[in-house]
Amino acid sequence: VTDRAPAGGWRQAEVHAADHPDRHGVRLRLAVPDRVEHWSGQHYVIRLRAPDGYTAQRSYSIASAPAEDLLEFYVERLTDGEVSGYLASQVRPGDLLEVRGPIGGWFVWRGDSPAVGLAGGSGVVPFISMLRHAQRIGSADRLALAVSATGLDRLPYAEELQAAGALLALSREVPPNGRAPGRLRVEDVQGLQPAAAGIGFVCGSASFAETASQLLVAAGLSTDRIRVERFGPTG
Ligand SMILES: Cc1cc2nc3c(=O)[nH]c(=O)nc-3n(C[C@H](O)[C@H](O)[C@H](O)COP(=O)(O)OP(=O)(O)OC[C@H]3O[C@@H](n4cnc5c(N)ncnc54)[C@H](O)[C@@H]3O)c2cc1C
Repeated sequence: VTDRAPAGGWRQAEVHAADHPDRHGVRLRLAVPDRVEHWSGQHYVIRLRAPDGYTAQRSYSIASAPAEDLLEFYVERLTDGEVSGYLASQVRPGDLLEVRGPIGGWFVWRGDSPAVGLAGGSGVVPFISMLRHAQRIGSADRLALAVSATGLDRLPYAEELQAAGALLALSREVPPNGRAPGRLRVEDVQGLQPAAAGIGFVCGSASFAETASQLLVAAGLSTDRIRVERFGPTG
């Protein structure tokens, strides 16, 4: 997978839709003419430019499947977040954004082998791309997901994840599956059979990534079989 050609330069993306599936973030659908097709798990950099020339750029994982016409992103609005705040509250259909991508050759899944994914909060985004891709190519049974959040309203794509059979762990409420409130446990992860899958993907905050990686190891996966994407500050 590392032989993928570099992403190239900046392109203009036109905002096709900017909707708010919950009060914590925005789902952006962008039209990018002549874009390079991505692999599930990759991300783009979005750059904002002020009239005085000041720019700020941040990375955002791709939620759409490679075969979808529009690129989809979910951006969680962070308190005092420079870029996420603007994207979540100011962007409207028809706006133009500068984007560069797709980026990443390590945290990618092409759907041709079994995989286990663990996500925390907005860390679900790259797994939505993987899930949609798997469904399109008839490989949905190859991807086992467990996702964690404080509550359903802090879990982007909650309905899509539930419909796909992802294991939901909510720390502050009882999810529709009736699971007692709490974080992901080693038994949850063992149930996804990561050792048999042979590869585990982890995505979320730095602390989630640390804990989830330890769960995969405790469930029998060796560290060199774990691929991690941390949604830490990139500014
Ligand atoms: C490969 C990659 C993919 C990513 N994909 C997504 C995605 O799909 N959706 C998404 O919402 N975000 C994603 N992120 C995070 C994103 O790049 C930004 O870090 C985030 O949107 C905050 O940017 P900001 O300008 O709003 O905040 P800033 O103005 O940079 O920071 C505001 C405050 O929040 C803190 N902070 C910054 N980033 C984070 C963070 N991620 N978590 C917690 N605190 C933070 C800062 O330390 C600061 O205190 C991804 C990051 C990486 C590296």
